[in-house]
Amino acid sequence: MLRLRPPVLRRWWTDAVGLVVWASMTIVLVLWVRNGGVQDLTSGAASAINSLGRLSALFASDLLLLQVLAMARVPFIERSIGQDRLTRWHRWVGFTSIWLMVVHIVLQTIGYSMLDSWNVFYEFWSLVTTAPGMLIAFAGTALLIMVAVTSMRVARKKLRYESWHLLHLYAYLGAGLALPHQLWTGTDFLFSTWATVYWWGSYALVMLAVIVYRVIVPLRLSSRQRLRVTSVVPDGRGAVTITMNGPHLEELEVSAGQFFVFRFVTGPGWTRAHPLSLSAAPTTHGLRVTMGVTGDDGERIARMREGTRVMIEGPYGRLHPQVRTRPNLVLVGSGLGLAPLVALAQEAVLAGRLTNGPAIMIRRLRSSQDAPMQADVDHLVRIGALQVVDLVGPRSTSGTAWLPRKHGHMPGTEAVQRMVPNLASADVYVCGTGPWVEAVAADLHAAGVPKTALHAENFTW
Ligand SMILES: Cc1cc2nc3c(=O)[nH]c(=O)nc-3n(C[C@H](O)[C@H](O)[C@H](O)COP(=O)(O)OP(=O)(O)OC[C@H]3O[C@@H](n4cnc5c(N)ncnc54)[C@H](O)[C@@H]3O)c2cc1C
Repeated sequence: MLRLRPPVLRRWWTDAVGLVVWASMTIVLVLWVRNGGVQDLTSGAASAINSLGRLSALFASDLLLLQVLAMARVPFIERSIGQDRLTRWHRWVGFTSIWLMVVHIVLQTIGYSMLDSWNVFYEFWSLVTTAPGMLIAFAGTALLIMVAVTSMRVARKKLRYESWHLLHLYAYLGAGLALPHQLWTGTDFLFSTWATVYWWGSYALVMLAVIVYRVIVPLRLSSRQRLRVTSVVPDGRGAVTITMNGPHLEELEVSAGQFFVFRFVTGPGWTRAHPLSLSAAPTTHGLRVTMGVTGDDGERIARMREGTRVMIEGPYGRLHPQVRTRPNLVLVGSGLGLAPLVALAQEAVLAGRLTNGPAIMIRRLRSSQDAPMQADVDHLVRIGALQVVDLVGPRSTSGTAWLPRKHGHMPGTEAVQRMVPNLASADVYVCGTGPWVEAVAADLHAAGVPKTALHAENFTW
């Protein structure tokens, strides 16, 4: 049984991602200035309003491209930032981009109506119906606004994940429809060869990244790996542990703590994708995940037979050992968020990385029957690799919300300091769902754990 090779990770990648973002924004600004954007600001009200309208459209387009790129699963971006941070970033940039698009429409309509001396409503109608590419741009913008509205938290909560995701895919169509009017009529796109090359190049590059990394690479990976389910067994309350194997597992580059997006090809419902973290250190012996089966798709997964074909995308995530900076290991998880943490503890044993004493695992559980992967935890404790601190019971409603009621009176920072005496020399991995992860991470940070030693993954994007 051999450990699988971890994916390559270069520290400078994070800086490179930041550089790409700032460089693209700077280029956009410079191109606008070169096209007389600043002079237009001083050439009368209508011209100034139109110039600002153009600038907001340019930034809206650039941010639209950057946020699509963020979700394209380009390995060097995904590995340096992490999927959950990228998703939060995508959300923030997405909303900003839509607002800028609205500002662009409003300003340009006002600006042109001043130039034409027309009523703004008539101007808007005239622009949409007569300017080249504008009608489809209008349809594209309407689609993008629909995607933004359905992504607002209130709306999102009311939709099933699959319905929301399907609607969200219309964003690609929206972006595609909004594009041509810029290329036909946008002076900032056409005033110089540099501008045309920049915009055409950016659109082409982003489109290529999406096709390659979201379609071609996952399909190639699944058809090469040919993974099949080898067992499905109940684990704790409301969860199952699924093991998988395939003929080319030794070629996979993956670390404990990472996740794949799985599709279990059972027949109807096979298209439903599930991001699941590995719940055991990945070896040539097979891959293992532990999944809660109380959700919409749980029954289908729990009834899955041995031999079921599995399609995978990934691996993704930064909750792996390569980001470690300190000698001690602390793992803080809630419910099934413990899955990648168990895998990390196993990996530390296999790699001989527990020379400074056992890892500490803090488990937040609703009841002790809910403890997933208990047999693995018992084994790690038996061999002296793990010390476990259990926080069991309903959540505190009056004190620190991430603690159970009986400890809730304690400030979170004091609780972590008490539970983890070696906090100053430890890397802390946190995993779970929703605001719980953010609350624990904030208290750990306040207790002195620097961001470089704090590695969190949230199962709720
Ligand atoms: C990075 C990551 C790692 C995860 N690892 C595990 C794990 O190891 N074990 C585990 O039990 N759960 C894990 N989850 C959560 C798991 O993916 C969902 O709970 C599961 O897909 C829900 O399946 P369902 O259709 O039965 O439930 P539903 O009741 O239909 O879904 C419950 C919620 O799960 C989320 N969800 C469902 N499908 C997806 C998807 N394709 N992408 C993103 N979110 C989705 C949605 O927020 C949804 O509201 C992980 C989630 C993420 C983001």
